[in-house]
Amino acid sequence: MTRAVIAFGANLGDREATIASATRALAETPGVQLVAVSPVYETAAIKHSGVDPVAPGYLNGVVIVETALAPLDLLDVLQAVEAENGRVRTEHWGDRTLDLDLIDFGGVVSADERLELPHPRAWQRAFVLQPWLDVDPDAVLPGRGTIAELRRVAHDEVVRR
Ligand code: AMP
Repeated sequence: MTRAVIAFGANLGDREATIASATRALAETPGVQLVAVSPVYETAAIKHSGVDPVAPGYLNGVVIVETALAPLDLLDVLQAVEAENGRVRTEHWGDRTLDLDLIDFGGVVSADERLELPHPRAWQRAFVLQPWLDVDPDAVLPGRGTIAELRRVAHDEVVRR
């Protein structure tokens, strides 16, 4: 079994309901056991040009799982759960009903065209680091350091729900 950290974000539709449905779907997936679900944070949408104050805000958090699946099989699960929850992808950094990212998979460092581990932007995102810190204060992001220190210097604003 491998411990994996999954980040969720939703900024369209009934965000709480989408997050609840996605969490349930992960918990019901064969080979996936839920270990922890973080508090949820309200955050501003971030586009390639920076914070977008006009776009609807996100609810963000993380889920920690133990899984018997291989990394790409877990990514398949995440993408299926996104599709079930009506994600419509109009632009790469676009608004979405549900975004699921694989942040860390047992400390693996790897990259191919479908999956980069750890997630390449997690280290600088308070909306990932803060909820992760809440449920696993001693966590480390491979190649980047402790999430406590990374969280201290991340500057995007997160507000606990
Ligand atoms: P996005 O639209 O930002 O959710 O990006 C989704 C794309 O990123 C998909 O094509 C994935 O194959 C790719 N990807 C690469 N690394 C990761 C990761 N660690 N977690 C989730 N998606 C990833």
